[in-house]
Amino acid sequence: MSDWIRESLHPDYAQSLRVDEMLYDSETDHQRLKVFQNGTFGRVLTLDDVVQTTEGDNAIYHEMLTHVPILAHGAARRVLIVGGGDGGMAREVLRHRTVEHVTMVEIDAGVVGFSKEYLPMLSQGAFDDPRLDLVIADGADFMRETAGGYDVIIIDSTDPIGPGEVLFTDTFYGHAKRALAPGGILVTQNGVPFMQGEELTNTMRAFQALFSDATCYIATVPTYAGGPMAFGWGTDGDARATSEDVLKARFDAAGIDCFYYTPAVHRAAFALPGYVDRLMP
Ligand code: SAM
Repeated sequence: MSDWIRESLHPDYAQSLRVDEMLYDSETDHQRLKVFQNGTFGRVLTLDDVVQTTEGDNAIYHEMLTHVPILAHGAARRVLIVGGGDGGMAREVLRHRTVEHVTMVEIDAGVVGFSKEYLPMLSQGAFDDPRLDLVIADGADFMRETAGGYDVIIIDSTDPIGPGEVLFTDTFYGHAKRALAPGGILVTQNGVPFMQGEELTNTMRAFQALFSDATCYIATVPTYAGGPMAFGWGTDGDARATSEDVLKARFDAAGIDCFYYTPAVHRAAFALPGYVDRLMP
């Protein structure tokens, strides 16, 4: 009888993934790390039994949280990632040769260390890129103290439980806004609205107080169960209005092949279903 991991994120709804082989199972100072092999999704990373990312569908999430803000911005040179310990976000950001520097602030060195060993297909060498500056710290502390100047800030955190909770506060978002360069864009992992609607409403309320353009965009990631997930979007520029033609020219110039992202999908991602739009404050 195979073992199954039953996700522990929601009080009355759960997904389970069969464990074909447990590759890593350990407690760090912050959370319980597991990596296991699953027949459909390949290697799966969970933190405190919540799916973080998988070999099979991580590209959807990582492509949409990087190429959407970077291609909409058009001249992003300095990028900040908060979280992202598995290296997948850094991988996608660093595919842009125009990006000169990436700072990645991850609270748990254990996630980085074992991701390099057990999930190399996620980082694909990103941790060795000379443009990457890895900082092991609480993202909330870093954001409070940073001198800023970032063109794109990506919050690639766990859900607002445990160490990730501080990354969903008005204070943190205010510090993130201050850390943006003029025209900069803040994007966030904001959960699955059908299951975590209040999380999105709270983030959008904070964004509306901080940015002239505050909204979200969506994409469906199979292992983030419950329908499409939302990505928070905040900026004082007009980057969201970038036309599909301009996005295509930038995408072609970047020379990046993607599993999910296309300029048409980029534009369509901001078309919100009624139930998501009604979660906007
Ligand atoms: N794709 C995942 C998702 O959507 O839930 C997130 C992936 S990534 C593994 C999440 C990372 O956020 C983890 O490595 C975790 O250690 C990190 N993290 C959680 N709280 C943090 C904090 N306060 N500061 C920095 N990193 C944090």
